[in-house]
Amino acid sequence: MTYEQPALPYAENALEPVISAETIRYHYGKHEKAYIDNLNRLIKGTEFENSELEDIIEKADGPLFNNASQAWNHIFYFFTFSPDGSREPGGELRKAIERDFGSFEKFKDAFVEAGAGLFGSGWVWLSRDDEGKLLITQGRNAGNPLTDGLTPLLTFDVWEHAYYIDYKNMRADYLRRLWDIVDWDVVESRY
Ligand code: MN
Repeated sequence: MTYEQPALPYAENALEPVISAETIRYHYGKHEKAYIDNLNRLIKGTEFENSELEDIIEKADGPLFNNASQAWNHIFYFFTFSPDGSREPGGELRKAIERDFGSFEKFKDAFVEAGAGLFGSGWVWLSRDDEGKLLITQGRNAGNPLTDGLTPLLTFDVWEHAYYIDYKNMRADYLRRLWDIVDWDVVESRY
């Protein structure tokens, strides 16, 4: 089978000024596309030819893992945002955030700190474990919490290609601005 790059659920300029149309054109149009193109090339003739993306992430390694996981991570990342979504979590997720981090504000600070503090390229994640406890983790390079048995809820991309056009070297500024476009209805639906 062939993986297709899902179309974004918003226009390429819809997340401005937080994420510019130029960044979307490169990050979604070239980086995400390249991971999916590479994935399709690499699965040919392997045991993963008809696998779900999650199965490849859990079982493969090397370039196949890297491209499968980067494809999954980018789709997950771009579908977290909306120009007009709920800007704060509600319901059970809100209660879990307050229980495990003290408050929504403290959660946001800890998440940005984990993303800003990751050395090199990678991702910062909010996930839940089997008991519903929330965890913030750093993933190096193509890392994905699925390989640790966790359920991912939210991720911010901290590869330089995610922010360099709009924020240059100011990674923490980029991370803080992303709160203005997270659609918490989407995150809650994953919880
Ligand atoms: Mn990226």
